[in-house]
Amino acid sequence: MYFRLLSALFAVLAALLPVARLAAVETVTFRDQNREQTVVGRVLIEAQDGGLLFQSRDGAIYNIEPDNLLARESDDAAFEPMSQEEVAQSLLAELPEGFQVHTTANYVICHQASTAYARWCGGLFERLAKAFDNYWSRPPRSIETHEPKFVLVAVVFPNKDSYVQFAQDEVGAAAESMIGYYSQRTNRMVLYDLTGIAAGSSRERLSQREIVRILAADRGGLTIATVIHEATHQIAYNSGVQRRFADNPVWLTEGMAMYFETPDLRSSSGWRTIGAVNKPRLNGFKSQMGSWTTADLQNMISSDAAFRQTATARTAYDVAWALSFYLIKRKSKAYCDFLKAHSLKNRLDWDTPEERLTTFIKHFGELEKLNTDFLRYIQRLR
Ligand SMILES: [Zn+2]
Repeated sequence: MYFRLLSALFAVLAALLPVARLAAVETVTFRDQNREQTVVGRVLIEAQDGGLLFQSRDGAIYNIEPDNLLARESDDAAFEPMSQEEVAQSLLAELPEGFQVHTTANYVICHQASTAYARWCGGLFERLAKAFDNYWSRPPRSIETHEPKFVLVAVVFPNKDSYVQFAQDEVGAAAESMIGYYSQRTNRMVLYDLTGIAAGSSRERLSQREIVRILAADRGGLTIATVIHEATHQIAYNSGVQRRFADNPVWLTEGMAMYFETPDLRSSSGWRTIGAVNKPRLNGFKSQMGSWTTADLQNMISSDAAFRQTATARTAYDVAWALSFYLIKRKSKAYCDFLKAHSLKNRLDWDTPEERLTTFIKHFGELEKLNTDFLRYIQRLR
């Protein structure tokens, strides 16, 4: 009897133990790209082989292989995200000299840009974050969102050269062809001052509208679209709408960012509307619609491969926009349920192509019929 009671007690304790451990602060030292790093944070997942998915107090996530884990120490204190002040100090210590900090309610913008540009970014990001939250949490949509738990960071370099030099470490050679990115690993946006106006110059006091005018002149608004796009990724992963390091089909993640990215060049922030028709993407998809089949749809749903190859990436993005636009507008409830299901997925648990397909069909129905309706809907858009 006692034995049974005791073993039942142990079973309860064993079930509780990992939970208790997850909340405690730990300090880990590990090798990361041949550098040794010591980070304070919490364990998100501990693998059986001793590998860790570890989150530092600034929100970054590190996937630490057991061979690279050098030391690990735990503390009784509870895990607490860094404050804005702590984040700002840590960024200033990490980045080259000359950076300044601009803070808004949710963001710390560490920049070497003109003050006007930093302020424009802050205003745009806050506006987007609020609209993003409203959009998903209010009827007819019903996604449970929350305030960001970590300070949202944007690092803004003064020019393309300094940006590329920094970004190469994180994204490799691709840095050259991107004007900004959001990293799921660091949880930061990295950008540069796209106005080309040096900090401290006589044009430092540009108005917000003038900034939009300068940016709009560059590739017809595509520049602003990219900034909004990256900020959408960041807020999606920080408001509970998506989960970092979990299985998110690329068409879903990219389609959502493109759904929000359409700039509004008449507005002083450069952005006002959600879910306007994204003309470059629509034209891109329309030009290939003639040969689009259900098998193509099936490929996109079950695999991210088309996004990874230069030859097919552009087309894949166009399709991701069109498909997401169609699903959000026409199958809103099913899309929200699909999104919610993905936000609850376990981290580091990657679906097989068959699992992705099954989940998609479970939410949206048979592909043949869906594809016909999808093409008909897109065909009518102007
Ligand atoms: Zn993207």
